Order: sequence, then C-alpha cells, then structure tokens
Amino acid sequence: MRVLVTGGAGYIGSITVEQLILAGDEVVVFDNLYQGHRDAVHPQAKFVQGDLKDRAAIDAALEAHQPDAIMHFASYTLVGESMQQPFLYLGANVTNGLNLLQSAVEHGVKKFILSSTANLFDQPERMPIDENERIIPGSPYGESKHILERMLYWLDRTQGMRYACLRYFNAAGASAERGEHHDPETHIIPLVLQVALGQREQFGIFGDDYPTPDGTCVRDYIHIIDLAQAHILALRALDEGSRTYNLGNGRGFSVKEVIDTAREITGHSIPTKVVARRPGDPAVLVASSDRIRRELGWEPKYPELRTIIETAWKWHQANPNGYAR
Ligand code: UDP
Repeated sequence: MRVLVTGGAGYIGSITVEQLILAGDEVVVFDNLYQGHRDAVHPQAKFVQGDLKDRAAIDAALEAHQPDAIMHFASYTLVGESMQQPFLYLGANVTNGLNLLQSAVEHGVKKFILSSTANLFDQPERMPIDENERIIPGSPYGESKHILERMLYWLDRTQGMRYACLRYFNAAGASAERGEHHDPETHIIPLVLQVALGQREQFGIFGDDYPTPDGTCVRDYIHIIDLAQAHILALRALDEGSRTYNLGNGRGFSVKEVIDTAREITGHSIPTKVVARRPGDPAVLVASSDRIRRELGWEPKYPELRTIIETAWKWHQANPNGYAR
C-alpha cells in the first residue's frame, strides 16, 4: 500500500514509517519540521515538507503521490501547553485535520488512521479503560482529538471513509535507529535518561501525594514498535470497517517505578526532587487493549517496562543529542 504519513518526522510517526517500510509499504512523509526531524525520516520514504494549514500543499501532495491511505500524526500534542494556549489546539489541530480530511475526500483517499489519545478519558469510571468508557476530554488537546474522531465518524457515514482511531496511552522506548527527541523535552523517560547522561542535574517528580500506592502518578507505557505495529494491523483491517482502539499494555507503572528501573538500567543514581503537581495529570491511566487483541490479534512484543527503558537508553546513549547535529 502507499501511505501518506503526516508528522512522519516526529517520534511516533517516524517509527511507524520505519515499520511500514519494513513491512513492504511505500511511504510519503508530509511534515512541516516544526517538531519533527528530517533525519528521523527513513531514507526509503519520500519526503514532502509542507504544512497542513496550506490546503494547496496537501492537494499537491495527494495529487503527486496518490496514496491509498493516510496516517495522521502531525499535531500539537502537549496537554499542559493546550491548557495555556487553547486556541492552538482547538484551532490549529482541528482546522489542520479538517483540511487534510477535505483533501482526502476530494482525492478519493478512503482509508484514514488517526493518532488519538488517552486524554479523552479524564474521569474514568473503570480501570483499565476500555473503549466503552465515557469520553470526557481532559484538556483542549484531548478535545481536539475528540472533534477529529467525530469528524471521521460522519465521514464514514456520508463519504464511505474507513478509519481507525488509535488512542495512545504513554508511547515510550525506541527502535534501533529512531527515538524520542522533543524540544523542549517534557516526557518522563527521556528526561530521566538525560539525568543519567549528565545533561540534567535532577528529575522533578510532579507530586507524590496522589491516591496511588507510592503517591506518584501511574501510567501505561507502551513500546513504540508495538504501537507502530498496531497502526499497521488497523490499516490492513479497514476494508472490514472503521474501528476505534485503546492502546496500552494494560499495566500501570508509577513515576517512582520508572525512575527506579532507569536507575537499575543506567547504573546512575538519578537524583530527584518532588515538585508541584502538573495541572491536568490524572492519578492513574491504564488502558484495556482487549479489543485490538481480540479483533486484530495484536500482541505487544515489548510489554516489560525494563525493555522499554532499555531500548530508550540504548538510543539515547548512541544519540546523546537526539537528532541535533
Ligand atoms: N512526570 C513527572 N515529571 C516530569 C515529567 C513527567 O513527574 O518532569 C510524570 C507526569 O506527571 C506523568 C508521567 O510522568 O504522571 C508521564 O508524563 P509524560 O509527560 O511523559 O506523559 P503524559 O502522561 O503527560 O502523556
């Protein structure tokens, strides 16, 4: 299949591109390089530098490359930032997605995979969280993804668009050649590993008075290659209909457990300091991925936190400045 991947120079996008190419698919990356890195793009992928706010640029890419499917990763992705700058998310994330969808429909692209989020579930009634959980977005970021999910629902009904919404919990880890590099970095595993690399003095724990066993937040970390594989399985299944999946390991680890595991792997003491809670952080987020396991036979290959952090550590050691030259 020929797949156009927006955000294919970013963390999750670039590793999904790599896995698509390994699976024999043709890939065109469409990315504005605002957060993405040109060097993260697999050399066998075609690359278009373009912005989703530019309808003409999207049209030109679809005309030139005639993809069979689109995977849409390009997005503003930070919960905290979205609380500070709601219009960036309720505006750009929504209108960029709308541009892409309109262009897709006009060019007859009828397969679409949306990168969605666990931030749809701000007040879960059951843990682990399955797809029947009530949607209450936790931030303008989560709301922007919810709006795109709803657009897809209607495009399925009115235009025959077949879609998969994949709601990620905490993507983590690295492949041999690609890893996590954000600027500024806000995610726990790269931050902890930057301390181990001597690039930061300490790691700030956002609160240790949550109602969890050790007082720190519990999250469900899913290895990036397992996540990428879920996209590929979902893509292959679209002919049988649209679908929505929650994607995680089904097991939660606390912030302290992540730090302790990183200490064991790196042999570094990783000093920490408890700081204020971060607004918008729920105490516990753990996914039930029973549906994708049952329907598509998805099975994570790297379910252990230890393996997830080991792969990240290898990549960070080999690339201490990430993709920066
Ligand atoms: N976290 C933390 N200090 C940091 C960054 C993150 O304690 O400097 C915690 C955060 O509160 C959350 C977990 O680590 O419980 C994962 O955060 P991250 O930003 O990596 O992902 P998110 O859960 O926001 O998607």
